[in-house]
Amino acid sequence: MAVARDLKIFWSQLEYLGGLSCAPFMLMFAIRQTGALRRIPAWLALLLFLPNVLVMGLAVTNPWHWLVWTGFADGPSGTNSLIYQHGPVFFLAVVIAFAYAMLGSILLVNGMVRTRRAFRGHNLIILVAVLFCWVTSFLYASVTACFPGLDISPLGLGFTAVLVSFGMYRMRMFDLRTLARDQVLEHMHDGLLVLDGQDRLVDHNPSAKRILGSTMGLEIGEPVKWPDDAFREAVAADSPAVDLCLSGDSGAEGWYSIKRIAISADAERWAIITLHEVTERKQAEDRLREQYQRILELETMLRDQAIRDSLTGLFNRRYLDEAIRRDIGRAKREGVPLAVLMIDLDHFKKVNDAYGHAAGDQVLVGLGQLLRGFFRDSDIACRYGGEEFVALLWGTGLLAGGAKADELRLAFAGMDLGLGLGLTPTLSVGVAAFPDQGEDGDTLLRAADRALYRAKQAGRNRIVLAE
Ligand code: GH3
Ligand code: MG
Ligand code: MG
Repeated sequence: MAVARDLKIFWSQLEYLGGLSCAPFMLMFAIRQTGALRRIPAWLALLLFLPNVLVMGLAVTNPWHWLVWTGFADGPSGTNSLIYQHGPVFFLAVVIAFAYAMLGSILLVNGMVRTRRAFRGHNLIILVAVLFCWVTSFLYASVTACFPGLDISPLGLGFTAVLVSFGMYRMRMFDLRTLARDQVLEHMHDGLLVLDGQDRLVDHNPSAKRILGSTMGLEIGEPVKWPDDAFREAVAADSPAVDLCLSGDSGAEGWYSIKRIAISADAERWAIITLHEVTERKQAEDRLREQYQRILELETMLRDQAIRDSLTGLFNRRYLDEAIRRDIGRAKREGVPLAVLMIDLDHFKKVNDAYGHAAGDQVLVGLGQLLRGFFRDSDIACRYGGEEFVALLWGTGLLAGGAKADELRLAFAGMDLGLGLGLTPTLSVGVAAFPDQGEDGDTLLRAADRALYRAKQAGRNRIVLAE
């Protein structure tokens, strides 16, 4: 049954509503699919649809101006088709629609080149689907159309629908999880490399490129060439996470924790290499290590200050109290003697008076140096106070202690203390020994001090052994 001409024209106007929306929708889809814009602002969407709204308005009001269709003619007899004679607005609408389609296709081709291999197929399917649509539309719109009055563009849309369905159901094209995972990979801060069983690069995300860009090439399908041995070891199978310093694309150095995770894919053992930035943690660790080192140094310094005399660098009296108790205990256990030398500078007051306090200090420092190098490692020399010094001679009896003290006296007498020829400082020593002169520190020190007093009494510059 022949359909009334007015009804056909009415349906054509309605068809325009759908047909015209194809192009802006396709362009918007291409923009989102390829990520050309993060989101399409409302004003842009309105702008894209504006020409279509105008054309739609003109199509509805065609009888008043005849700009969309200039007239209608019946198709060849027996076909029941209507030939639309197109006006200038129709062709303008076609040009705009093809411009949109062209732009959308360029975006898809560009996206296909840039996208990772796994998703290239999706863009290709969309591109071919869109192509069907536009080729048939073009054939209809072109003046050299071979089927007058036959609109074959719905046929093209049918093919498009079949292809998109294939993409959706067989290739999970619009699977939200696939898209979400793709987005996560694209935007995550950590770098990711996917390797196949032969360590060929299957995929990588933009962060991996940013992190490794300047140190190694990232050619998909090619065996990976690691920048150095440390990196190769870090990504070796069964290697624990390793921290490495890498200089990225911008040349700025950063620390990354590198780890290999084995996965099963394509019946093969694949691997994911993750590059997780740990620069801040590393810097914090370094700061902590430096602070800890500083604390250790301060602690050593404080401990040293507590047991040493600042002028001569010898141990102080506090240390001597500990050392004499410890050494006597050990000497008792091991049954060995321990000599105590009480050393005092002779007429030291005169040195100060004649040369000044600084020169006196110089003499004390000189004697300190002599004492530090004079005895064995197992012996201990201390500044007891003022110009008095004490030496503990491990495993040494009274006589041997006296002999050593005399050697010291002579060595000191031979020292050049830089005071000039006017005065030569000398020293006197009182010697006592464990166990004969006492079995505890106080008794031994008192015995040595009494011997020293006798040395002074006897004229100084001499050694006296305790009785
Ligand atoms: P004696 O032979 O009897 O030991 O006479 P002396 O003058 O050495 O003994 P005295 O105890 O009378 O005087 C000790 C002097 O040592 C007094 C003090 O000014 C000096 N003295 C003590 N400590 C220091 C010091 O650190 N630096 C200097 N320059 N002199 C000191
Ligand atoms: Mg003195
Ligand atoms: Mg004295």
